[in-house]
Amino acid sequence: MSALPMGTPESSGPAMELRHLLLTYVVLTYSFTSSMWFIAGSWMGLSRKAASDWLRANLMAGVALVMVLLDTGLPRSLCLMISSSLLVIASMSLRRGLQSFFRQQHAVTRQVLVCAIPCALNLLVWLPTGLIEVGIVSSCLLAAATMVQVARDTHEVLAREFMAGTALAADLMLGLTAFYCVLIAAGTLSSRFSPTWMPDPTTTQALLGVTAAGLSIGVSFVLGYIVVMRLVHRLQHLSQHDSLTGLLNRRAIEGSLGKEALRLQRFGGVYSVMLVDIDHFKRINDNLGHAAGDEVLRTVATLLKDHAREVDRVARYGGEEFCVLLPHTDHEGAMQAAERLRSAVHRTDIPWQDEQICVTVSTGLATAQDPDEPLHALLKRADDALYRAKTEGRNRVVASPAH
Ligand code: GH3
Ligand code: MG
Ligand code: MG
Repeated sequence: MSALPMGTPESSGPAMELRHLLLTYVVLTYSFTSSMWFIAGSWMGLSRKAASDWLRANLMAGVALVMVLLDTGLPRSLCLMISSSLLVIASMSLRRGLQSFFRQQHAVTRQVLVCAIPCALNLLVWLPTGLIEVGIVSSCLLAAATMVQVARDTHEVLAREFMAGTALAADLMLGLTAFYCVLIAAGTLSSRFSPTWMPDPTTTQALLGVTAAGLSIGVSFVLGYIVVMRLVHRLQHLSQHDSLTGLLNRRAIEGSLGKEALRLQRFGGVYSVMLVDIDHFKRINDNLGHAAGDEVLRTVATLLKDHAREVDRVARYGGEEFCVLLPHTDHEGAMQAAERLRSAVHRTDIPWQDEQICVTVSTGLATAQDPDEPLHALLKRADDALYRAKTEGRNRVVASPAH
C-alpha cells in the first residue's frame, strides 16, 4: 500500500536523478508484488479470489505512487486526485481480499459506495474547486481507517487459523500502513508535503516513496505467508487423514504408535492397541453396491471416533479395518473400551436407501507394557487376536495374552 509523498519544489540535477532512482525502485517493487499475486492466483490457483483482490490493491497503490513520481504530462492537481482515489480503492481491495480469504461477509454495495463517493468527490468537487488538500487528506484518512478496520476484523481469525504471532505481524504491517497514511494527511495539512510538489523529490519525499514501497512488500509478505501456510496445513492434513472417513490414515497412526513405543521404552507405563475389522463386509459391497459399503465405512468410523476418548487415536488401517491406539490404558480398560465400541456398532442400524444395514465388528486387542517388546510384535499379537475373534464367530473382542 502507499500514499502520496508531496512537497515543495526543488529543481536540481541530482534531484532529478534521485527521482528516476526512486521511480525505478517503486516500479520494480510493485511489479514484483503484483506478479507474485498474479502467479499465485492465476497460475497456481492459490486463494484465487483473495489473490485477485490483492493484485488489484497492489496495482492501484503502485500506479498511485508512480503517478506522483512520474511526469505524465497531465496537470499535477489531476494526478494527485487520481492518486488519492486509487489509494482508497487499493485499501478497499486489500480488505476485500482478506474477507474472501477468511470467507467473511462482503458488504459489496457499501464497499462500492465507500470507494465511489471519495473518488467522485476528488474528481468532481475538490479538483474543480482547487481544494486538492481536502481530497488528499480525506482519502488518506479513509485508507488509514480501512487498514485499522481490516486489522480488527481479521485479528481473531488469523490467530485462530495460524498463530498469535502471525496475527500480530499482520496488525503491525496494517498499523504501520495506516500510520503512514495519517502521516501523509498530517503532512499535507501542515503544508510540509505541499500539493504543489514538482517531480524533484526532496530527501523526505524520497524516503516517503521508499517507505510506501517497503510497506507494500511487508503487507504482501504477511499475506503471502498466510496463503502458503494454509496450503501447508491442507497438505499436512491430506497426508495424515483418510479421505473417505476423515480418520487418521495408516501413516499417521504408525507415527503415533512409534512415539508411544518410544515413550514406553523411556518412561515405562502401559498402552493398548485395537484392530477392529468389519465382519462380512464384502457381502455388503456385493449385495448393495460399493456406495453402500462406503456409507458403512463412514458410519463405523464415526462410531469409533465418538466412542473413543479424546486422547485415543482412531485410524483407518486398511480397507475395512481400523486401528485404535489407547494411551495409558491397561488390559482391563482396553477390554471395556473395545466392548463399548463393539456394542455401539452392533446396536446401530445404518440407513441405506429403503433399508437398514446392520453390521458387526471383530476386535483384536493387545496391551503393551514390556519396554523390550518391538512394535511389530505388539501389532502381530493384536492381529493374531483379531484372527481368533474371526474364527471364534465374529462380533467379539479377543485380547492377546500378555507378552
Ligand atoms: P471378514 O468378516 O472375514 O472380515 O470378511 P470381509 O468380507 O469383511 O473381509 P474381506 O477381506 O473378504 O473383504 C473386505 C472387502 O472390503 C473387500 C474390499 O473390496 C472391500 N473394501 C476395501 N476398501 C473399501 C472401500 O474403501 N470401500 C468399499 N466400499 N469397500 C472396500
Ligand atoms: Mg472384514
Ligand atoms: Mg479385513
